[in-house]
Amino acid sequence: MKLDFLTLNYKQTQKTGQILAEEILKFPIKKQALVLGLEGDLGGGKTTFLQGFAKGLGIKEKITSPTFVIMRSYDISKLKRQNKGKFFHLDCYRIQKEKEVLSLGFKEIINNPYNIVAVEWAERIKKIIPKDALIIKFDFINKNSREIVIKLKNGN
Ligand code: ADP
Ligand code: MG
Repeated sequence: MKLDFLTLNYKQTQKTGQILAEEILKFPIKKQALVLGLEGDLGGGKTTFLQGFAKGLGIKEKITSPTFVIMRSYDISKLKRQNKGKFFHLDCYRIQKEKEVLSLGFKEIINNPYNIVAVEWAERIKKIIPKDALIIKFDFINKNSREIVIKLKNGN
């Protein structure tokens, strides 16, 4: 599976994130949390995408990169499918070792199938991103255009 998008402004990137969230909520619950790994350079649009994604999950708060706190969580228990879960937003920009993320309880978070977990700079903690995660890669085309490619971590 490979989905390839070209967005021409930040709103289209938000909308792409929103649509992905709406589609994800139609999947049956799996054994573990649903994990998104977002990759690509600073300013690529990872946080912008997650603003739309969070909106698609029914989150009303404004999403900003948790660069300094590393992780933030948001209530999604209103969603029937996720009623025992949260949306976790991680930013690994400042992370050097997987251990730093594990110390935040990453394993336990992943083990709750009702959680949805989005990791910015997922390439920094590759080893602990589950094999069935969706990897979303952002490429800077020009000032207002981004290429967004969505794949399964262990797929083609
Ligand atoms: P990241 O989290 O990857 O560092 P951000 O989402 O914080 O990136 O920043 C992306 C920046 O690029 C924002 O200032 C946004 O307004 C701008 N931008 C311009 N065009 C786009 C686009 N097509 N998609 C996403 N962001 C865009
Ligand atoms: Mg960001």
